[in-house]
Amino acid sequence: MQQSLLDNMHRQLGKLLPAFEIEAKAELVEEINQLKRQKNAVILGHNYMEAALYNFVADIRGDSLALCHQAQQSTCDVILFCGVYFMAETAKILNPSRKVLIPSLQAGCSLAASITADDVRKLREHYPDVPIVTYINTYAEVKAEADVCCTSSNASRIINDLDSESVIFIPDEYLARNVAHEMGKQVIFPYQKAGNNSLIAWRGKCEVHELFSVDDIEAVKRQLPTAQVLAHPECSPEVVAAADFSGSTSQMVDYVRANNRPLLLLTECSMADNVIAENPQRQENILRLCSIRCPHMNQITLEQTRDALLYDRYQVTIDEPLRQRAVKSIERMLD
Ligand code: 13P
Ligand code: SF4
Repeated sequence: MQQSLLDNMHRQLGKLLPAFEIEAKAELVEEINQLKRQKNAVILGHNYMEAALYNFVADIRGDSLALCHQAQQSTCDVILFCGVYFMAETAKILNPSRKVLIPSLQAGCSLAASITADDVRKLREHYPDVPIVTYINTYAEVKAEADVCCTSSNASRIINDLDSESVIFIPDEYLARNVAHEMGKQVIFPYQKAGNNSLIAWRGKCEVHELFSVDDIEAVKRQLPTAQVLAHPECSPEVVAAADFSGSTSQMVDYVRANNRPLLLLTECSMADNVIAENPQRQENILRLCSIRCPHMNQITLEQTRDALLYDRYQVTIDEPLRQRAVKSIERMLD
């Protein structure tokens, strides 16, 4: 065991984990990093990954959009995606010639599960002239039916660039409502009549972000009136309205880096751990609700990541005709 790795892990994670756990994780980190070199693999880590994995194993970290860009630029033989399935699938769509692995097949997403390709075809049939924007939190079959993809960091820009009177936005109802509010659009639902300035939303929800409430914000503000609140745009419009800032996971991280005051982060709890690991003295003034976790992101552990490299599992595969249709909506977003 390299002493410098152990020292760095204690320094960065000491406020988050007991010493014995850091020591156990350090052994796994060392093993993964050796396997990574042997296999010529790159590890992409979403901002929600647990702190040891995120800070000591992932080569590239970020939100869905940043990871999408990085996946496109990868030259390694293997892309190991530490995130949920739709993200690994997006990496495969952009890199068909590379081996893309995900450490667990249980890492789904309630938003991606909320809509099927058939649902999208029915929307297209009902609103034939209305462009369809899909949030990146969907599977390839759905992306293949949409016109353009977006993430939480570029949704309003993508909708704006379409320059269309009405737009179908799937599958996140809260993100649709938040974007519509920002853009002065009216939200309607299938199969209501579309007006001049309508955003036709689906009823999908993030099972994690829908749990945050205005009561949570008020409780923290009562105890700590100077605290600022950051909410991911998958939270309800009421929560986003009561927050001081709303943005993608990386936009939230940037906000935390630029503000030294007490902050409450309404998103998966691991992200706050990762910010604290970067700057351990911030532990005193970064607040989060750790009873609310993403059960899908939490499937990705150091053990599973090691086994992914060791046993070459689980390979993400996608039929070429489907990939060719799905890639168009992603490339249009990236363009
Ligand atoms: P970001 O694109 O903001 O990283 O969000 C992904 C996600 O699944 C949040 O729940
Ligand atoms: Fe999906 Fe919500 Fe988990 Fe993000 S936090 S992966 S949107 S279930």
